[in-house]
Amino acid sequence: MKAPKKGIKWETLGFGFSDVNCHIRFTWKNGKWSKPRFVKEPEITMHIGASCLHYGQECFEGIKAFRQKNGKIVIFRPDENAKRMYRTAERTCMPPVPVDMFVDACKAVVKRNSEFVPPYGTGGSMYLRPLLIGTGPQIGVAPAAEYTFMIMVMPVGAYYKGGLKPVRAVIFDDWDRAAPNGMGDVKVGGNYAASLYAHEKAKHAGWPVELYLDAKTHKYVEEFATSNFAGISKSGSYVTPDSKSVLPSVTNMSIKQVAEDLGIKVECRPVPFTEIRRFEAVAALGTAVVITPVYEITRADKVIKISDPDVVHPVLQKLYDTVQGIQYGTIKDTHNWCFEVK
Ligand SMILES: *Cc1c(COP(=O)(O)O)cnc(C)c1O
Repeated sequence: MKAPKKGIKWETLGFGFSDVNCHIRFTWKNGKWSKPRFVKEPEITMHIGASCLHYGQECFEGIKAFRQKNGKIVIFRPDENAKRMYRTAERTCMPPVPVDMFVDACKAVVKRNSEFVPPYGTGGSMYLRPLLIGTGPQIGVAPAAEYTFMIMVMPVGAYYKGGLKPVRAVIFDDWDRAAPNGMGDVKVGGNYAASLYAHEKAKHAGWPVELYLDAKTHKYVEEFATSNFAGISKSGSYVTPDSKSVLPSVTNMSIKQVAEDLGIKVECRPVPFTEIRRFEAVAALGTAVVITPVYEITRADKVIKISDPDVVHPVLQKLYDTVQGIQYGTIKDTHNWCFEVK
């Protein structure tokens, strides 16, 4: 593994595209996956009739690799993302990427770009974005005959430069994200397209995140546009919605385990909207930021105050510190979540 590249301002890196050495690419044709290719150019050429362009045959994943305290480079739970992309591929009639091929591809592309994994201590990481798209031309509605699987990587900075920062959220009753038997539980780009309009509305009105209720009744909490929901109850339980239209977040799955390890009770069950005001803390959970505390939630003309905007609930802080400690190698990885790149 290479040392971090000289001349990059790691401390000021944000969350955006930057040039690296290469991405990894495979194509699926005649029933099988090709050998990997490492491609330098970030552009991709495809047929104008590609099914990803016309009918949204597309899915993706988000994963992080970390340079640990002891110098090792590890990828956090890529096997879980592999399994999730497998399920998403099946749901969208695309050829699933075998789990081993997916994990090996993650390791190979990180290895080829190891000098872009930020130094330990800067709070940065390497973000991996696996992408599976239909690239064969398909004009009659049907699955395409050719597919491309790629993993893009980029160094990203610490999201919280001075500690966890609570945000406000909003619920809109005018727009839904995912229907009960729809695609909310798989990671397709279309789910993001479905939430962009509301997201822009929220952002311009001063809410960085929007929370969705179940599309059918608007009575139960589901998740934020791009992250899962969790609340800390008065009795100290970690409560997270159980719903078929919520995306199973790897971050949430990991935090649930960490909570159990710390002796915190985990409740995975339907969460009525009316319960929000009884939580001591609420958080949004996802790979990009791990935990974002939410201090108040607005729905129409009502504002639900949850916590002090300047104070992070100690349980959220502890969960955050533990997950980050495992990722950066300062806390023992008892569940073997970190896959070393050699
Ligand atoms: C990706 C995603 C999440 C977060 O999942 P992680 O595996 O924790 O990154 C949550 N909700 C939605 C809708 C997502 O697409």
